[in-house]
Amino acid sequence: MALSKRITTLTSDASGGWDLFLRARAMKAAGVDVTELTIGEHDIRTDPAILDEMHRAALAGHTGYADIPGIPALRDEVAARIEAASGVKTTRDNVLVTPGGQSGLFASHMALCDPGQNALFIDPYYATYPGTIRGAGAIPCPVAARPENGFQPDPADIDVVAAGGAASLMINTPNNPTGVVYSRETLEGIAEVARARDLWLISDEVYDSQVWEGRHLSIRAIEGMAERTLVVGSMSKSHAMTGSRIGWVVGPQEVVGHMINLSTHTTYGVAGYIQDAALFALRRGARAEEEVAAPFRRRREIALGVLAGQNALRLVPPQGAMYLMLDIRATGMSGSGFAEKLLDECHIAVMPGESFGAAAAGHIRVAMTIEDSAFGNALKKLVDFAQAQI
Ligand code: PMP
Repeated sequence: MALSKRITTLTSDASGGWDLFLRARAMKAAGVDVTELTIGEHDIRTDPAILDEMHRAALAGHTGYADIPGIPALRDEVAARIEAASGVKTTRDNVLVTPGGQSGLFASHMALCDPGQNALFIDPYYATYPGTIRGAGAIPCPVAARPENGFQPDPADIDVVAAGGAASLMINTPNNPTGVVYSRETLEGIAEVARARDLWLISDEVYDSQVWEGRHLSIRAIEGMAERTLVVGSMSKSHAMTGSRIGWVVGPQEVVGHMINLSTHTTYGVAGYIQDAALFALRRGARAEEEVAAPFRRRREIALGVLAGQNALRLVPPQGAMYLMLDIRATGMSGSGFAEKLLDECHIAVMPGESFGAAAAGHIRVAMTIEDSAFGNALKKLVDFAQAQI
C-alpha cells in the first residue's frame, strides 16, 4: 500500500547528526562512559512546585477536555507577558495555547502557506525546520547566514531567495544552534524585506529567557510587523518543562481564529492541568526563569575561560540559548568528521554543524547541559583533541 509522499519525504534530508547522537546513545547503553553534549535538554527537572500545582489541578478535576484555544487565564497571562516584552498591545484573542513550540511552528505554516508555496527559513537552523515546513505541504527554502557575519542573517540574502516568490519566512532568535541574538539592525532589515515581498513572519522565540549579551528583541515589536508576524513561544526552555508540551502562538486575531479551528481538528487542545501548572509557573515571574537559565550563563563563562588563548577552536560569540557553536575549520576537518573522531577517541558526543544546515559546515554545536565541572573538563579535552588534529 502506498503511503503519502508528505510522510515518506518528510525528512528526506535527514543528516548524519542524528546518527552520531544515536551512536553515542548506543555506546552508553553498552556501558561506555560517554559525555553527551548533544541535545537541548536541561540537566535539572521541572521545579517540584510546578508539579505540585499540576497535581493539585488534576485532583481538582481539570482532567477533562480543556478550552481548545487555551484556558482564558493562561491566554491572558501569555498576552500580558508578550505585551510587556514587546510593547505591542496583545489580548487573549491574539493567543493560541499549543502543545509545545514545535506544534506551534507546524500550525503556523499550516495557517500561512498553501501547498507548494515556498517557506523560507534561516540556515543554520533547528533540525526539525525543513520537515515541519514539508509536513505543512510547503517547500523549505534555506537562506544561509554566514559565519563571517557572526551568523546574523543578511536581509539582502533573504531578499534574493524571496524574489522567487514565498509565503513566509521563519526566523529564530535567540538562535539554536548558533547562540546568536539578532540585532535590531538585522531585525529591521528583515522587516523591510518582509514588507516589500509581502511575507508572513514566523518568529521562533522559545529561547527568549536565555539571553547573555544584549537584549532579546521580538520582530513583532517593529513598526508594522505585528500584523504579519506569528511569535512562537514555549515553556520548555524557560521553565525546564520540555516534557509537559506547552507553548503558544501569538499573532493577529484573524490568523489565531483559523489556528483555533486547526487545533479543533488536530490536537484538540492542551491538558487542563498542564495549563494550570503553566499559569502558576508564569505567574512566578522573571526570577524563576532566571534561575532556570543560570546554569547556562555560568557554563558560558566557563567556556569563555577554557577557550581563551587557544586557536584550534574559534567560538562564535554565544549571546543566548544553551549552546556553543565552535568553528573547527582550523583542523581542516568537517564538523561530522571531527564529531565522529571525538566520540571514538574521547567519548564526547557533540552535534556536527552539518546537521543544522550547510551554513554550519565546519562547526560543531556543544550543548551546555551537564554539570559545571564535568562541562569544563569535557571542554578542556575537546580543546586538546582539536589541537592534536592540527
Ligand atoms: N524551536 C527551537 C529553536 C528549539 O530548539 C526547540 C526545541 N529544541 C523548539 C523550537 C521546540 O521546542 P518545544 O516543542 O519543546 O517547545
